[in-house]
Amino acid sequence: MSPMTRLLSKVRGNRLMVLQGPWILRFDQTGRFLLASGPGRAVRRGLDDRLVRTRTLPVRGLLGRRYEILEADEKPAFYRRVYNAALSSLASLPRDEARVWQDRLVRWTPEALTTDREAFDDVYLPISILPPDQYHALVVQITHGCSYNRCLFCDFYRDRRFHVKTPEELDRHLERLRAFMGRRIEERSGIFLGDGNAFVVPTARLIGMLEQIRRTLGDNVAGEFYTFMDTFTLEHKSPQGLRRIYDHGLRTVYTGLETGADRLRAFLRKPGTAREAVHALNVLKEVGFRLGVILLVGAGGPAFAEEHLDGTLEALRNLHLTSEDVIFLSPFMEPEDTDYESQARAAGLTTFSEPETARELLRWQQALAALPARITLYSIKEHLYF
Ligand code: SF4
Repeated sequence: MSPMTRLLSKVRGNRLMVLQGPWILRFDQTGRFLLASGPGRAVRRGLDDRLVRTRTLPVRGLLGRRYEILEADEKPAFYRRVYNAALSSLASLPRDEARVWQDRLVRWTPEALTTDREAFDDVYLPISILPPDQYHALVVQITHGCSYNRCLFCDFYRDRRFHVKTPEELDRHLERLRAFMGRRIEERSGIFLGDGNAFVVPTARLIGMLEQIRRTLGDNVAGEFYTFMDTFTLEHKSPQGLRRIYDHGLRTVYTGLETGADRLRAFLRKPGTAREAVHALNVLKEVGFRLGVILLVGAGGPAFAEEHLDGTLEALRNLHLTSEDVIFLSPFMEPEDTDYESQARAAGLTTFSEPETARELLRWQQALAALPARITLYSIKEHLYF
């Protein structure tokens, strides 16, 4: 962003847009900074006050983006720059409108934005991961953690014990959520049920929670529900129970199939065989659920490369996918808080380098292209709840 470029404000819906040369800054209806986007790069703010910088690289394929989180000591200067630009741009608005936006913007000093982070932490345990098409849903943590929590590649929920909220706890969570979001809640449509496998909640209790959320947040916000699920606890739900859940508005489920190769599943400590996982997903398809199927490209390294792709292709061919389903290709990243590294070393496995992972992603994309579902990238580095 060049300080010399002419600044222009526009109000679009209830948001403020600031145009500065090729850069566009966006602020929400409360004056909180949302996004700065310019040629080949962008900085986005999450509800937890994380700032993620994205760069688009001149690289073909699914890995043509880089992400980094701005350090705490970089943020105040960044915020001062974008807010100074926004305040200077207001001269281009009608005077009354400019005054309204001036009042909204001046509140958000770097310190106030940090306090906003504390308010976020009052509502939520960290939102460790979301499907990439759900970053803008409203997350309601009906559970904490994952009831299994032992997959070798996953450290998203190692910091918490699995817990299903009681009606009273859910009430408190929803009240805090409403207070934190304020008017911003009206812009959300759809509820993502946290955390890692909330679908495991017994049917009657889950339906009670969907009704409680809808009663509190209203049909506009809680019209539809989404969640992660595992494929190995579905036998606890009857087809009739699944139908009732679907009829209550939970219609999209995201699941980590990871691989169709059983030897690799066993190494990754993913319970059940690929055949059992596919059976569970086909039961959901029968009822009408839309699926998001996550595949862990590069897991097991070069030694598993062919077996991993062949087994997964076979599993996906047996899955009754339709054009409304999505297959997410998630490049494998070595977790920090599991013993993946030592287990891989003991098994003589190596890890793909970044360029090799990029090649694997392209290879998988081409191999899966004939399937009816849409195929897209799911980079866990990109994750930001905004
Ligand atoms: S991958 Fe899913 S099932 Fe496995 S530990 Fe992580 S959240 Fe739980």
